[in-house]
Order: sequence, then structure tokens, then C-alpha cells
Amino acid sequence: MYDRIYNFSAGPSMLPLPVLERARDELLNYGGSGMSVMEMSHRSKFFDDIIVDAEKLMREVMGIPDNYKVLFLQGGASLQFASVPMNLMKTGRADYAVTGQFSGKAYKEGQKYGDAHLAATTKDINFTRIPRQSELDIRPDADYFHICFNNTIFGTKWDYIPDTKGVPLVADMSSCILSEPVDVSKFALIYAGAQKNVAPAGLTIVIVREDMLRDELPATVPTVCSYKTMAEAGSMYNTPPCYPIYICKLVLEWIKDLGGLEEMKKINERKAAKLYACLDSSRMFNNPVSPESRSIMNVTFRAESDEINAKFVKESAAAGLQNLKGHRSVGGMRASIYNAMPEAGVDKLIKFIEDFEKANS
Ligand SMILES: *Cc1c(COP(=O)(O)O)cnc(C)c1O
Repeated sequence: MYDRIYNFSAGPSMLPLPVLERARDELLNYGGSGMSVMEMSHRSKFFDDIIVDAEKLMREVMGIPDNYKVLFLQGGASLQFASVPMNLMKTGRADYAVTGQFSGKAYKEGQKYGDAHLAATTKDINFTRIPRQSELDIRPDADYFHICFNNTIFGTKWDYIPDTKGVPLVADMSSCILSEPVDVSKFALIYAGAQKNVAPAGLTIVIVREDMLRDELPATVPTVCSYKTMAEAGSMYNTPPCYPIYICKLVLEWIKDLGGLEEMKKINERKAAKLYACLDSSRMFNNPVSPESRSIMNVTFRAESDEINAKFVKESAAAGLQNLKGHRSVGGMRASIYNAMPEAGVDKLIKFIEDFEKANS
């Protein structure tokens, strides 16, 4: 009906069709306001209801305990690479696991603010697995331990929540937030750029335990980067990203109607399992990730030959399966199969892989 493609982009990425349809229906006149959400004051009653609902739904869907704040910020996950050390480094020591490109960037940013220590990395094996608990060298007096929970580029995911022995745990969940239930109480802070699984680009979600909020920040910390200021202002110290917050609310309603994160997880695991099964039985394509570390959101695969990889990307795009080219640091292909990717899209990709393999071997 709409000529829509299956978009396997790592981000910005697909949004659920019912969400887009609802946004379309409400685009010109939101709830009888006579205007679009894009046009209204963030201080209006209409928008206030939207942001209050978005937070309420986020708490309900994720099971966020009462002693956590939910912040709707700007600047992307990349600004959080700096905001986390600016807010959380008290002694100036922080530990990082580097399991891919984004966690490497977070670690590097942390070094600007203090003594950032590499607690673990799997760089020597091209990030094809997540470090085990026994490999984590977390300093007991570190202000926090930072991990990237799902590695978007390398297609790996932490299959366990590390035991930090009391050191606050901070996680970048940009590419897996809302994909399955997580025990929020195990984390001191979770952040996520919204453009992978929650909303259009422009919104960054921060979920932070109240005891991490500090009054005394260095004088040079930008006010909009202070979690405490933002928490006290209900994310409205300045203009928040209003439209992405509205879409976030619609996406949360969609997840809730679907049966919540338990159901979301079932669907995501089913989608990922059949795609990995197809790759594991393929003689042309291979996924290099250790089975226990495989992501259910980003699935990488490649053939030996660069020529075959290029041909696959080109022909799959022509068949309506788009943006399957892998990140340039990994090569090959990557299928990002976030919440909004319909199971039919994964089925079509699997059929395409099988047919392509037959036609080219
Ligand atoms: C996309 C992504 C980022 C970067 O997000 P921006 O919002 O572009 O800054 C950081 N971390 C992870 C895990 C990502 O997937």
C-alpha cells in the first residue's frame, strides 16, 4: 500500500508502522489543539501531558524503580560519553570495558576528565565476543564501571550483567533499550540515543539512580549537562526534543499493547534465532561472533569474497532489503533487526540469503 522497504539500517532506523500512521493522523491537529506537536510550546498543557505520559510509560514498560530519574535530553549518546564522567567522576577514577567502537569512544572521552582505566577489552580478537566476568579488572575505588550493553557495529551483546562489587554500573543501551526486559536496579545509570529503537534522532534517554545526582559539579560543566539540574527541571531546563518525545510515547504505547518487554523479547529472539540459524547453515556466509555474545538486534555476516559481499548488498537493496552494508570497520553485511523490523522482513532476508547462495555458488 505504501511501497515501504525493509530498512535494515543501524540507525536512524525503522519505526513501527502503526506509530507512523498515528503520527500522520495527528500531524496537523494534535488532540484538537489545532496545531502539530512540532509547533506547540513545550510549556503547553498539551505537551506537558505528552512528556508526563512518556515518562510514566517508560517507567511502566521498563519497570524502573522509584528511586531513579528518567531524563529526556539532547546531544545523542555521544554527549553522554562526556556527561557521564562530568557528573559521575568524584575521585576522578573510572573504569571502562572496550568491546567495540562506541565503548572505545566513551573510554577516550572519559580520559579527558580523569583517570580512565581499561578494565577489559576484546580488541585483540576484533571484538567478536564479550569479556567474561573473570576478565574484568574493575578497581574497587572507581567512581563507575562503563559498558556498552549491545555493540551495534560488531553485533555483540553482554549476555550477563557484570558483578562490579559495589562500583556503580553505567551502560550505553542505545541499540538495545526496550528490546527485552532488563533489571534496572542493577545499574546506576543507563543511557540511550533514541534513534535505534525508540524514536527519531534528537532524543537521548538517561535513567539515573537518585544517589548519583550531585550538587557540586566543576564550574565548567555546562548546565544542560548536569543531571541534577535536568532532573529538577523535569527535563525542561531548556527546550526538550518535543517531537521525538511524542514519538517515544507512541512507541511505548505500541510496545505495551503488544504485551510489553517480555513479549518483545520473545519476538526479537525468534527473529534473531532464525537469522543466525540460516547463517550457521550457510556455506557462503559466516557470522564471526561467539554464540553466547550474539546480539539479537544487530546481526553481522560476510562471505569470504568482497566481490560477493558487494553483489549481495546491491541485489538485496534492489529486492527491497535495504541498508545491509556492514560498517566499514567490519565489512560484509549487517542486518539491524530492531523492534520495528517486522518478522516478515527477517523471513524475506533469510529467503534472499538462501536464494542468493544457490544462484552464486
Ligand atoms: C549509535 C550509537 C551511539 C552513537 O549515538 P549518537 O546518538 O549518534 O551519539 C553510541 N552508542 C551506541 C551503542 C550506538 O549504537
